[in-house]
Amino acid sequence: MHQKQYELYLHLPFCRQKCAYCDFPSFAGREQEMETYVEAVLTEARLRFPQVEDLSLSTIFIGGGTPSLLPPLLLKRLIEGLRGILHFHDAAEFTCEANPGTLTQAWLETAFSLGVNRLSLGMQASQERLLKLLGRIHTKADVEASVSLARGAGFQNLNLDLMFGLPMQTMDDWLDTLRFALSLAPQHLSCYGLILEDGTRMKEWVDTGKLTLPDESEERDMYDAALRMLGDHGFHQYEISNFARDGFLCRHNMGYWRQVYYLGLGSSSASMLPSRKSNFFCVREKNPDSLDEYLSLIAKGQVTRKREEITPEDARFETMMLGLRTTEGVRYDDFEHLHGVTLQSCYGEKIQSLIRKGLLEMDDLGVRLTRTGMDLQNQVLVELMDD
Ligand code: SF4
Repeated sequence: MHQKQYELYLHLPFCRQKCAYCDFPSFAGREQEMETYVEAVLTEARLRFPQVEDLSLSTIFIGGGTPSLLPPLLLKRLIEGLRGILHFHDAAEFTCEANPGTLTQAWLETAFSLGVNRLSLGMQASQERLLKLLGRIHTKADVEASVSLARGAGFQNLNLDLMFGLPMQTMDDWLDTLRFALSLAPQHLSCYGLILEDGTRMKEWVDTGKLTLPDESEERDMYDAALRMLGDHGFHQYEISNFARDGFLCRHNMGYWRQVYYLGLGSSSASMLPSRKSNFFCVREKNPDSLDEYLSLIAKGQVTRKREEITPEDARFETMMLGLRTTEGVRYDDFEHLHGVTLQSCYGEKIQSLIRKGLLEMDDLGVRLTRTGMDLQNQVLVELMDD
């Protein structure tokens, strides 16, 4: 029996309005169903619990959606209910996502008093015209007010999500966004390049020529500017999109990239659990994306049966795919510990070929992407996958 640590991801799929670029499974106009949903999540936790022995949660991440839309009393019901079912490790990192424009002092104080010790705010940009274009409900002043309320409530560990590569975003806009974010003294910053997703309004505007995106080299320059500015301000890059001050990297995400087992609760969440069959590495179970489907499944006293067994070959590739996102890369000892075979025996020749192309580098500890490799990560993965 595996006795590894577990992480928990809990999805709250409610949003005030749908952002123009968003294809996450989140829904506007359904806030009246939040109470039913919280009860469904607690029921799911009770149903799933017997599947996992020796469960101790090392990290908890409540994401969305917009978890800060949950009224404080419901947030209390949810977290106290979970604590009654699942064991939270005393030193667990407990993150809640929240959006400026929805945060209140009561919500923040409730979250903090219930053990939430890390807050992740969706700031995105500091220009009103870009926030409007993205379909965000907040203003720059809301970001400032949210950070100040969060500090007042006791939060010492704060992340801000930022976006670059946006239509109508200039390099000066991006530098101003970074400067404004830094002026708020966060412990962690996530900088995401815009990805145009099918079915979003943003994609339609770009496809029909109403908007144009910065070209690849402009986007690369924005990314490089972030690397420089954040480095100059004491932030360490530990993953392609993530930067932290010493001691503040996100343990939950690191666990995900290092393939720590996780439990998912709520619509569209996934769980990765040890396999009971020795010839499979693990089992992944996925909840329905649809809120209605999820609620009706739980109302019938069931948890999802959508399961996928991950073979050792697939698991080894996932180790490469996830580990290479981090600046530490894939360590030889971690790979061997996870898979019982050496990294060299599985990928030795391909790694050498990618090193010759300047896309990977290696040392005594492991292998990682070069700066060029970060831009060409897909090419690296395709070459590692090829037989
Ligand atoms: S707030 Fe986040 S989850 Fe909600 S619509 Fe916007 S991007 Fe999507």
